[in-house]
Amino acid sequence: MLQNLREEVLEIGHQMKAYGLIAQAGGTVCARDPESGLIAITASGMSYEDMTWQDVLIIDQEKNLLAGDRRISVATDMFLTIFKKRPDVNALIHTHSRYATAYATVKKPIPVITTTQGNIVGGEVPVVQTVHVGPYDQAFYDEIADTLGSGWACNLAAHGPICAGTDLNMALDVSVTIEVTAHTAWIAKFLGEPYQLTKEEIQGSFQYCQAAVGQN
Ligand SMILES: [Zn+2]
Repeated sequence: MLQNLREEVLEIGHQMKAYGLIAQAGGTVCARDPESGLIAITASGMSYEDMTWQDVLIIDQEKNLLAGDRRISVATDMFLTIFKKRPDVNALIHTHSRYATAYATVKKPIPVITTTQGNIVGGEVPVVQTVHVGPYDQAFYDEIADTLGSGWACNLAAHGPICAGTDLNMALDVSVTIEVTAHTAWIAKFLGEPYQLTKEEIQGSFQYCQAAVGQN
């Protein structure tokens, strides 16, 4: 069932590792099939090197397991809550990438200090302020979805980012971009106070990139 989507989810997992966004079995990748609404999500606590596409589970929007026999990710309810509130989102990635997570530890948003952040993410990365060590509850999932709002990334305090996309490639782009921006911001602090793009510049940058960059 949905083998292509499950293979794509696994491939994104491998790319997350290649980009240095995760270590060991950390992180979660999840995609919604736009036609059926079914969701492919990585199994809990497995390294991507050890996974095959059969270890990417298929569930419906009520979390019923339809394919695969692994234990499901603990992030599943969080992702289902976001999917329900954001029909334009079809992919979600959670990582523990170190520079983005550094901002989560001090509960500060990752600022828009590069046009690339404006182009790809379209705004700063806000922080879900509640620190939660699990088991999680619906109030926490709602806080995450509300913090994400209509944006494409948020950061869980003392934990790490959740990135969204209209598809898996966009969600990966957002994950890589916020990590690079957070790293750049850290370096820039040694040189001076980095310029922060205005709201108008961020909006213009995002709209321009959506309309003019890429092959579609
Ligand atoms: Zn995590």
